[in-house]
Amino acid sequence: SRQIRLAARPDGRPEARHFRFEEHPVAAPAEGEVLLQTLFLSLDPYMRGRMSDAKSYAEPVAIGAVMEGGTVSRVLESRHPGLRAGDVVLSHAGWQTHATAPGDSLRKLDIGIAPVSTALGVLGMPGFTAWAGLLLLGQPKAGETVVVAAATGPVGSAVGQIAKLRGARAVGIAGGPDKCRALREEFGFDAAIDHRAPDFAAQLAAACPEGIDVYFENVGGAVWDAVFPLLNKFARVPVCGLVSQYNGAASESPDRLPALMRQVLSRSLTIRGFIQTEFAARKPDFLREMGQWVSEGKVRYREDVVDGLDRAPEAFAGLLEGKNFGKLLVKVSD
Ligand code: NDP
Repeated sequence: SRQIRLAARPDGRPEARHFRFEEHPVAAPAEGEVLLQTLFLSLDPYMRGRMSDAKSYAEPVAIGAVMEGGTVSRVLESRHPGLRAGDVVLSHAGWQTHATAPGDSLRKLDIGIAPVSTALGVLGMPGFTAWAGLLLLGQPKAGETVVVAAATGPVGSAVGQIAKLRGARAVGIAGGPDKCRALREEFGFDAAIDHRAPDFAAQLAAACPEGIDVYFENVGGAVWDAVFPLLNKFARVPVCGLVSQYNGAASESPDRLPALMRQVLSRSLTIRGFIQTEFAARKPDFLREMGQWVSEGKVRYREDVVDGLDRAPEAFAGLLEGKNFGKLLVKVSD
């Protein structure tokens, strides 16, 4: 198996020297296990947290260990009664070409329903994050205004489209004119704002003439600074991610905490962080509803596929800087 292991903990942007390539023979599967070949590796922002040993909701990857990650993999050899060679499964095999895994930890994918790669995106963890965070915590109502940033990514694009299906107005924030055009034309957002524009805050205010009822927080930083003065009474803020902070860049904005707390009090705001695994019991509901929306074309998705495992480190660094355009996947083998 060709593997990418964590070589050192980055203090800032992940670079090539923080990763190490190794080749190892794969162990034959024991009873109940299967031998897997990775087809697609998912690259996700949470992996930056796993590279760091700062206190978090999950244990870090150990120095020298294979980088972790969700995969879509093919079963090459099975010693599990429920799986056969040739089956395609959702797995957590990490940044490597082959792995053995307990068969019970895998979900067999139905090849007919949607391309298997969607099990890592719109019909997988990011799609579920959007569905659960927006519907269970954000609870958008018809006519309300929902704002989301990183809006062309797998979480943000699903948030905006689900908001529209609930009859809300969707305002997306993204980096650059191409992504903003995709928000309007591909994903059907009502308005799209470029967070890199010098007058970003004024443009956002103009796009939300009736204020903001739900802000689905993916990025933090300067975007949050522009959003919170626009929040309406009883607005809900599901805090899903803070990607602008993941590389540890110090905020240049002055201390806004007193202003924010004034806003929380005077507008009766609900700000609620969450990790998608908290809602695991709702996964079947998500798969049913989102599966239907995707198959009917009511929810669209965009994938950004990079070819070859060796390109994973560079593609991952780019993800934290907005170089991806859609769900970032590495195609590891055919
Ligand atoms: P994306 O594919 O959207 O990638 C991250 C995007 O963040 C980039 O493409 C970039 O888009 C944007 N971005 C990066 N830096 C900044 C910045 N300084 N200001 C504004 N935007 C920035 O990722 P996902 O859809 O997979 O994830 C979105 C968020 O959801 C992340 O914060 C992630 O950590 C979080 N998440 C949380 C989960 C949970 O359980 N709580 C589960 C899954 C994801 P652009 O070019 O548009 O700026």
